[in-house]
Amino acid sequence: MTVPSLAPRAARVIVVGGGPAGAASAWALASLGHEVLILDRARFPRDKACAEYLSPQASRVLHAMGVLGDVERAGAAQLAGMTVRAPDGGIIHGEFAARHGFTAFRDRGLALRRRRLDPILLDGARRAGAQLREGVAVHDLERNAHGDVCGVWVRDAQGGAQRLRADLVIGADGLRSVVGRRLGVAAHLGWPFPRRVAFVAHWRGVQGVGAHGEMHVERDGYVGIADVGHGEVNVAIVVPRGRARDAAGDAAGFMDRWLARRPQLAPRFAGAARVTPVRATGPFAARATRAWAPGALLAGDAADFFDPFTGEGIYAALRGGELLAPFAADALRASGRGARLRALAAYDGARRREFGGKWLVERLIGTAVAVPALMNHAARTLGARRDMADLLVGVTGDIVPAREVLRPGFLLRLLAPPLRRAP
Ligand SMILES: Cc1cc2nc3c(=O)[nH]c(=O)nc-3n(C[C@H](O)[C@H](O)[C@H](O)COP(=O)(O)OP(=O)(O)OC[C@H]3O[C@@H](n4cnc5c(N)ncnc54)[C@H](O)[C@@H]3O)c2cc1C
Repeated sequence: MTVPSLAPRAARVIVVGGGPAGAASAWALASLGHEVLILDRARFPRDKACAEYLSPQASRVLHAMGVLGDVERAGAAQLAGMTVRAPDGGIIHGEFAARHGFTAFRDRGLALRRRRLDPILLDGARRAGAQLREGVAVHDLERNAHGDVCGVWVRDAQGGAQRLRADLVIGADGLRSVVGRRLGVAAHLGWPFPRRVAFVAHWRGVQGVGAHGEMHVERDGYVGIADVGHGEVNVAIVVPRGRARDAAGDAAGFMDRWLARRPQLAPRFAGAARVTPVRATGPFAARATRAWAPGALLAGDAADFFDPFTGEGIYAALRGGELLAPFAADALRASGRGARLRALAAYDGARRREFGGKWLVERLIGTAVAVPALMNHAARTLGARRDMADLLVGVTGDIVPAREVLRPGFLLRLLAPPLRRAP
């Protein structure tokens, strides 16, 4: 069955997914003068399982998109840094604004519920000229005689199918990207990388939540706690996939039981109320074997998402969307197929240069949190070396280049016996 046309005839770029990666890609390409159509199976505003913190450097992309003021006016909480509690109670505390010689566009991170943030990002894309169609799910790709992608197949809410042609398709459709799977590039990172699932909800009345995001690492997973404005606190519990079986059919009970077992958290939640359903998502540790194919590019989680511990997915999605635009534009301009493919393939190299160091840091931290003795040791060292803690928090905040903490000197100091505090 065919449904009435959903797209303007001349749409040349189709962006699948209207999350941060889709909105930023659409904004960047529309700003370059291309006709852009965003398709999302959801209708906005919608919730998304996420801890909802944006690193300080994300504000630079928000500013470029012309939406930073809107995000701040929407009541985003401001985060000054991070506090990490190791399984034995040791504390790592780092500030975004620190004396390490690096400065971000803003010295605070922002935190705002995705049902408020994502529509603002999409408004930025629309103001640049992109169009958005909601409630439209992409289920397959259209290919030409060479096998190159030249459009998508969509299904609307009534189940009607339609083919929409495009000169370029951007897969920004998240962790379980249909575009990535149809391109045959979707892959999971295997051993030794952990595969985890998350349970996320919003609470009111949690005691002692301040201007620092909190991560509590336990032997059976970790929980992130952060103010997201409007009197709400985001609580995101992340556990190994095997543990998630305990939640079968009762995610809310699982969250309540998990929090109640932590002596440092239970009293803080005693008078608090959960105000949104518990959303479960995962497993993560997914990475496309490459972020391009003839006629298509991938951005955001569709290309790579390792683990939420370092909380940088939104920045990577926004920056990834911005990053792909010149390569997409080169491909759209190219006269022959060879030149088109070279332009698209060059995007992969740019991603490695931009994100390669961060990928390594994310993998090291994301894997270390599964080893309690390592986390306890790191907390003792970093608890005594605030300069090192600030540097590490600066890397996770996209302020400090990843190479600063990948230097052998930093890693040796991290693993060496901790310094004694001065009496
Ligand atoms: C538990 C958890 C906590 C996290 N915490 C943080 C954090 O604090 N800070 C941070 O920066 N990052 C965090 N992240 C990561 C962050 O959520 C993602 O990296 C980010 O949302 C990626 O954006 P995206 O646009 O690539 O994908 P998404 O935000 O997932 O958007 C994808 C969009 O595509 C649409 N879509 C999907 N399939 C189709 C289809 N077939 N057709 C049409 N539309 C489709 C979806 O409806 C959705 O709107 C967290 C992730 C998890 C799981």
